[in-house]
Amino acid sequence: MTDSPSSPSEAFSILLELQQHDTTIDQLRHRSRTLAERAELEEVHSRLRELRRRFDEVRARHSVVSESLKELAGQVDAAKLRKADIERRLYGGSVTSARDLQAMDGEVHHLVQHVDELEERQLELMEQLDPLDAEIDEIDDELDVLDKSASELRERIEDAEVTIEAEITVESSSRENAAARLPPDLLTHYETIRARLGGVGAARLVGNTCGGCHLALPAVEVDRIRKAPADSLITCDQCGRILVR
Ligand SMILES: [Zn+2]
Repeated sequence: MTDSPSSPSEAFSILLELQQHDTTIDQLRHRSRTLAERAELEEVHSRLRELRRRFDEVRARHSVVSESLKELAGQVDAAKLRKADIERRLYGGSVTSARDLQAMDGEVHHLVQHVDELEERQLELMEQLDPLDAEIDEIDDELDVLDKSASELRERIEDAEVTIEAEITVESSSRENAAARLPPDLLTHYETIRARLGGVGAARLVGNTCGGCHLALPAVEVDRIRKAPADSLITCDQCGRILVR
């Protein structure tokens, strides 16, 4: 046994039922697309991008300073080695010329001064590293917070999607049920208009107004519609939607 409508007017009321399900499904899809969490997540993502850019920038500055420090440490080591070497010879007794001894003593003094300067520079650079370290820690913490809120938002979006998808499934099944009870011609006609006119293919005639485009029909036209046989397909002159009396 098929579930065909028993009368033409019943077909039109099934058509309105179908329209209601389609509208609800469209609204559910729209709700899913426009979840507030999606905009929030986009905002979090853009802050994450900006923060990661700053993180890379600070890290690059940090590594430039670190490299200079490493270089300075190498220079300090070399100067100290050279000084120790000269001192060994200076006090080793093998050099006896007064002029040579004086020259070596002068070089030792020069090296001591040089090491002092290098170490002073090292201190300056270490002072530059402190705020960079602090900034890196701070950005790192902020990244953690943002990562956490991004995954919370993704979870909330997923939950909402699941809920909405379940509602769509229920509506779709009711929709299919209504569609199956409609004459195929009427269904095709409805689908075509619905696709062309942004989701609404059939509307009720309320008083003298089309429920689809909300424009008033001329009195003569309304009169003609009211008197037309119950099984005749009436469409709105203004928007072309199926009008249900
Ligand atoms: Zn209309």
